[in-house]
Amino acid sequence: MAPDLQIQNYIGGVFQPAVSGAFLDNIDPSTGQVYSRLPDSDERDVQLAVEAAARAFPAWSRTGPDARFRILMRIADLIGQNMEAFARAESVDSGKPLSVSMSVDIPRAQANFRFFATATLQFASESHHMAGEAANFTLRQPLGVVGCISPWNLPLYLFTWKIAPALAAGNCVAGKPSELTPMTAYMLSKVCQEAGLPPGVLNIVHGLGHKAGQAIVEHPQVKAVSFTGGTETGRKIAAVAAPMFKKLSLELGGKNPNLIFADCNFEAMMEGAIRSSFSNNGQICLCGSRIYVERPLYEKFRDEFVRRTQQLITGPPLSPESALGALVSRQHLEKVEQYLSLARAEGGVILCGGERADVGGDYRGGYFLRPAVIEGLPLDCRANQEEIFGPVVTIAPFDSEEEALALANGTAYGLSATLWTQDVSRANRIAEQLQAGIVWVNCWMVRDLRTPFGGVKNSGVGREGGNEALRFFTEPKNVCIKYG
Ligand code: NAD
Repeated sequence: MAPDLQIQNYIGGVFQPAVSGAFLDNIDPSTGQVYSRLPDSDERDVQLAVEAAARAFPAWSRTGPDARFRILMRIADLIGQNMEAFARAESVDSGKPLSVSMSVDIPRAQANFRFFATATLQFASESHHMAGEAANFTLRQPLGVVGCISPWNLPLYLFTWKIAPALAAGNCVAGKPSELTPMTAYMLSKVCQEAGLPPGVLNIVHGLGHKAGQAIVEHPQVKAVSFTGGTETGRKIAAVAAPMFKKLSLELGGKNPNLIFADCNFEAMMEGAIRSSFSNNGQICLCGSRIYVERPLYEKFRDEFVRRTQQLITGPPLSPESALGALVSRQHLEKVEQYLSLARAEGGVILCGGERADVGGDYRGGYFLRPAVIEGLPLDCRANQEEIFGPVVTIAPFDSEEEALALANGTAYGLSATLWTQDVSRANRIAEQLQAGIVWVNCWMVRDLRTPFGGVKNSGVGREGGNEALRFFTEPKNVCIKYG
């Protein structure tokens, strides 16, 4: 399945341009060149998408779990059959190494559909028995038309993480992928058509956040919004949606700590720390961007971490040698570079990286940056408080568990945290006190799709994953039946 160069909206089962006829350029971040176009949709396209979804809802919500299971499984199968085409498209669109889209993004998108397909068969609700008096049972009904809005860093992975449970629970969707990475969502719409998903059940509108995205959030018929993206955008969405009493799931930014104790398994930790710092160019909300190391291990860690970071190859996304590809856009590259300048101004020492990588050939205009390690910054500086979302980590020593916890919890974010120690009691003690929605001990990014996923503080509201997602996309109704 080769990606078309002219992306279209998918509304009511029909591929179509934006009502305005306007397009946006889609840039290949590894060359800096325009390589496709996407519809510049506005509220008129969203209106069409919501109308199509509302028309499809009565039949889809009455479709039994078996039929829904079969269609969602068929979508998963088709993603699997086109794995390489999807992975190549994802890498070209986002700049990420093909090794990442082949091993993480697309397999996970397939797994999302498979997981929620089977979940339709298993999802059950509660009953509450009042002895001798009455029985209550809870009906879990789909909401109707829901909005799913996703970011550019894991494009198909995160789009499907929302769409699959929404459809599995019987809703119809008006979805919008990031305008920076629309290609695999467009390919998904073709797969959905081929899989026999009824027209209007999933509608994909492409375009800018403040136009198409905001129109989804503002639309009175959209009953719930599941959003993944930046904290500031989440704040705007909440401000629009809250007075309309919409259900909201907000998966937002992070500034995740990685706590390394001297008793850790050094080799496993080192391998994990490199991955959690620089996977996907450091553009994963779960990346550990602040590394704190117990002082007796600090120098050994720093020297080895810098040595391994310098060995990582920054290169063309489709090259098998590349550990890092291009950042997603010129604007994002410049944002990350501004944080590097800020870190220097705040007293940080850049131990390695931080300069643009000259990949040569056709890639001269690409957005390549060598992974950077910064030392010497206090907790309260901006480089340690704000999300950089690139191949940049800060490192610092700590002397006690209390200090490690204070550092870990010392930002406005609370998405994930990673902990390396062989001491189980310490792991339990610290995990309990970390302000984060997800804690990994002696591992990173190990994901069981049944577990609750989400953040605390400025990292978001609500949980996705497993039954949490199915509960979000359904409304519970208690039915009380009196005996006799
Ligand atoms: P973003 O907030 O700029 O955009 C995300 C999506 O929202 C895009 O589709 C965009 O078009 C849309 N959007 C923008 N403004 C909007 C508005 N006013 N109304 C409705 N929609 C709007 O985020 P991004 O730069 O695409 O993604 C990076 C951010 O996402 C980082 O902060 C990262 O931490 C976060 N993220 C969080 C998680 C998580 O699970 N918590 C996962 C991945 C990424």
